[in-house]
Amino acid sequence: MAVPARKTSKTKKRMRRGNIKLQVPNLSACPNCGELRKSHVVCPNCGFYDGRQVVKTNN
Ligand SMILES: [Zn+2]
Repeated sequence: MAVPARKTSKTKKRMRRGNIKLQVPNLSACPNCGELRKSHVVCPNCGFYDGRQVVKTNN
């Protein structure tokens, strides 16, 4: 198995990890209830997707 020739320096390691950050999901308002939801995902508040009820909700 190939092994790195040199130890990665603290600076190089920190420079690489400086690009790793928390992912903020793309949120958009639900056209049915106006609640923020992830795009391309059934609305967790009203259960609507693509203009119709897909998942039954309590309210
Ligand atoms: Zn909704």
